[in-house]
Amino acid sequence: MKQFDVLVVGGGHAGCEAALAAARMGARTALLTISRSSIGVMSCNPAIGGLGKGHLVREIDALDGAMGRVADAAGIQFRLLNRKKGPAVQGPRAQTDRLLYKTSMQAEIGSSPRLQVIEGEAVDLIQHQDFVCGVVLADNSEIHATTTILTTGTFLRGVIHIGDVSRPGGRMGEQPSVKMADRLLSYDLPIGRLKTGTPPRLDGRTIDWTKLESQPGDTDPTMFSFLSDKPRARQISCGITHTNPQTHEIIEKNLARSAMYGGQIEGVGPRYCPSIEDKIVRFADKESHQIFLEPEGLSDSTVYPNGISTSLPEDVQEAYVRSIVGLENAQIVQPGYAIEYDYVDPRALRNTFELRLIPGLYLAGQINGTTGYEEAAAQGLVAGLNAALKAMGREPAEFHRRTSYIGVMIDDLITRGVTEPYRMFTSRAEFRLSLRADNADQRLTPLGRKLGSIGEERWNAYSSKIASIEKLKSELDQMSLSARDIHNLGVRLAPDGPKRSGTEALSLSDFEFSHLEQLNGSEFEFAATVKQQVKNDALYSNYIARQEKDIAAMERDESLLIPENFPFGDIDGLSSEMVQKMSAVRPSNIAQAARIDGVTPSALMLLVARIKRDMRLKTGT
Ligand code: FAD
Repeated sequence: MKQFDVLVVGGGHAGCEAALAAARMGARTALLTISRSSIGVMSCNPAIGGLGKGHLVREIDALDGAMGRVADAAGIQFRLLNRKKGPAVQGPRAQTDRLLYKTSMQAEIGSSPRLQVIEGEAVDLIQHQDFVCGVVLADNSEIHATTTILTTGTFLRGVIHIGDVSRPGGRMGEQPSVKMADRLLSYDLPIGRLKTGTPPRLDGRTIDWTKLESQPGDTDPTMFSFLSDKPRARQISCGITHTNPQTHEIIEKNLARSAMYGGQIEGVGPRYCPSIEDKIVRFADKESHQIFLEPEGLSDSTVYPNGISTSLPEDVQEAYVRSIVGLENAQIVQPGYAIEYDYVDPRALRNTFELRLIPGLYLAGQINGTTGYEEAAAQGLVAGLNAALKAMGREPAEFHRRTSYIGVMIDDLITRGVTEPYRMFTSRAEFRLSLRADNADQRLTPLGRKLGSIGEERWNAYSSKIASIEKLKSELDQMSLSARDIHNLGVRLAPDGPKRSGTEALSLSDFEFSHLEQLNGSEFEFAATVKQQVKNDALYSNYIARQEKDIAAMERDESLLIPENFPFGDIDGLSSEMVQKMSAVRPSNIAQAARIDGVTPSALMLLVARIKRDMRLKTGT
């Protein structure tokens, strides 16, 4: 019998990050996956990051997770999205070489001490009293562990649909996980169905690239990891083409043959990542949709046409693909398909991703109703840290909305649940001015260090960066610049205003370090990244002061805790709808209760009054 502190089931994005995090924490960890060679596989698009998602990758990296480093190693085109907007909403993104990504992740897993990879399919959970303490494999062997994390992605009772053909599958070419799905159903867990889809893959050698617009990467690439400075792989350009009225006509005529429109699929799909059928129906007035033709790798001729995911039959896929400029002779090497799978309503989870009903069992990734590699990896990291902490008998690690996108995602999932596959956006974060991709390390690396998940290399790099930032800031604070001198550089500032320190001057949106160096008469001898960080911190300092007030108000609410088994049904005057909503979510504080969909301010007032009354009765005041 094998015995571990933490057992992670699944080698996808959640599983890898969970296993690496648990091992970093010092836990003896096992990663169980159906096939060792599929560790780190990108099931859909070969790209990491984007708006909101890029922030998550930065946060994973700040906690010494692997995704950022691996994406940097595998990146073949880097682009900073929203470059023209402020740093708070910019999203780093990289097109990656699918094979390089997988092999780099496998290298991370292989070189992690205390982490053992085991091949096999988990078909059952081992339970001792209420606790889950391991899994049974398909060959009847057992793996025991103090805590277990399931990260089974789209595999739970997965069904693949191409037109009217449906077959069981976890993703293309892989079997679904049915016995584990049955086992979860045997508990009283809220389980639902979701779906997602992927486009047909094309043979790049059959695409006429001369007809297409080319999209190169950034000339000054923004890396994901705070430890990376430049791309390692050769960089490439992507192509851009468009659907046209003929494409739309072919799709419209065949809508009834689409698995989704033909009624074969009951699961709900991602609204923000619609299939081409969806786009044609929902945006009927649009004559064209953009398609990015993304090479899947440097030594692979496969191309991922981003924007045309589908569940139409193969003959229709071929017809509509060939109606598109540049793709007239394109060969499909793998058809597009939709996949439907079971997920567990994340409101059944604690903020550590442990199931409330089943102590010792954690869930992370697509199994919790999310979509995307980054969302999965971030959950895996949190579950891995917490499963290790629990196994060591330590207090859980908590992530808050005001300090991380990870905290936003956890809070959204466990308080609101999902009605469609959940993906991250910057608009989900009310404190996004301070939750920037550039300062993820300042927000999270010290926390990670306290928990024990930060290695020496990162901690040394971080400490020396912070020392430089502080040194530069103290030099800037000592400067005294006249408003007229600043104005004379063409900066928007009244010439008769008060003097400003260097940091105050940098808080003006059109005042850059180059201006400061002109006034100073010499360059500041600091790394460009340090200067950029000081500029960003200064730029947002005024807004953040305002935001701090909102945070303080929220903290006052948060300080009022709701006891674990609080009887919402006993509150006089609380409607049965409110009782039902609060009992389903079981918020642990007032701020969380306030974010439950549909909970009214008056219901909150009744709740606050009741908690305060109970506290007075308890303390006799
Ligand atoms: P996965 O990456 O799916 O990994 C699951 C792992 O669990 C695998 O290693 C598997 O072998 C293992 N496993 C499963 N069951 C068992 C078992 N019983 N025992 C042992 N091991 C097991 N995301 C987007 O953001 N946009 C998209 O457009 C998009 N489209 C997608 C289309 C398709 C067809 C698919 C399949 C996925 C798509 N995704 C998309 C989702 C993206 O792939 C996932 O969000 C991400 O991979 C989830 O990571 P995960 O770690 O939760 O699961």
